[in-house]
Amino acid sequence: YADTMRVPASKGLSLMKAKAQGGDIRMIYSAADCLDIARANPDRNVVFFAIGFETTTPATAVVLKQAKAEGLKNFFVFCNHVLTPPAMHHILKNQEKVQIEGFVGPAHVSTIIGSEPYETFAKDYSKPVVIAGFEPLDMLQSILMLIRQINRGEAEVENEFTRAVRPEGNMKAIRMMEEVFALRDSFEWRGLGSVPKSALKLSDAYSDFDAEKHFNLVYRSVPDNKACECGAILRGEKQPSDCRAFGTVCTPESPIGSCMVSSEGACAAYFTYGRHKR
Ligand code: SF4
Repeated sequence: YADTMRVPASKGLSLMKAKAQGGDIRMIYSAADCLDIARANPDRNVVFFAIGFETTTPATAVVLKQAKAEGLKNFFVFCNHVLTPPAMHHILKNQEKVQIEGFVGPAHVSTIIGSEPYETFAKDYSKPVVIAGFEPLDMLQSILMLIRQINRGEAEVENEFTRAVRPEGNMKAIRMMEEVFALRDSFEWRGLGSVPKSALKLSDAYSDFDAEKHFNLVYRSVPDNKACECGAILRGEKQPSDCRAFGTVCTPESPIGSCMVSSEGACAAYFTYGRHKR
C-alpha cells in the first residue's frame, strides 16, 4: 500500500528507493490488485507485503482464500498485520506514570473487531474509550464524550460510531481471519519495541502462500533513528514538536520515523494541522 513505500528501512532504503534502483515494486490500492498481477504473470513470483491493522486484514484473508481456491503457485503473502488491543495493553502496562487519560477508539478497526475488546481498558485500567467515526463532527462529538467521562471520573466504553460499529464486530470477517491467520508470539513495533501476541502470521492451512517460509526470510531488527521520539509520542509522554527532527529533517515528504509516514500518524497530522499553533 502507498504508505508502506516511504517507510524508512535498513541501509537507508525504502521500498520507494528500491523501486528507483530498479526493483519491480508496485503500489496497489486493493489486495485484489496483487492477485491480478499474479494471475497475469504466472512465470513470476508475486509477493504481497500485507500490512495494517484489523482494517486491512480481512481483505488479505479474502485474497488468500481466493488464491487457494484457484491453486495459484506464484502468489505469496509477507504478513505484517498487527492488532490494536495488544498495543494499547502494552502502552498502558509499560509506563511508570501513564499520561494517557482516555482513548479515541479507531473507526475502521472497530467496524471489524467491535466495541467489546475495549472493555478491558475501562474495567482494568480505568481508561475511558470512545469509538469515533471519521467525519469531523464524529471526532468533535467523540472528544466531547471522552472529556465528559474524564470530568465525571468515569471509565466506560462508548460508541459514537453506532452507524457502523456493533459490540461483537463483523463476525464474518472475524471468522475468516481466524481461519487464515494465527497469532505470532511477539512482534516488533516501531517505537514500541517487542509486543507479545500483537501480530498475525499465516495459519498452517495457508503456509504454501507464506513468503517467510517460501523465501526463508529471517527477521532482522531495524532500529529507529536515534533522534526519533515516536515511542514517547505513542505513549502520550511527548508531543511531536518536542522532537528535534520534527519539521526539519523529518517531514511527510522525507520521514525518518514511523509517526511521520502515514497522514494518520501523530507527527504527520501535527505537521499538517498543528505546527503553527504555537
Ligand atoms: S518528527 Fe519524525 S523523528 Fe521526530 S518523533 Fe516524529 S517521526 Fe520520529
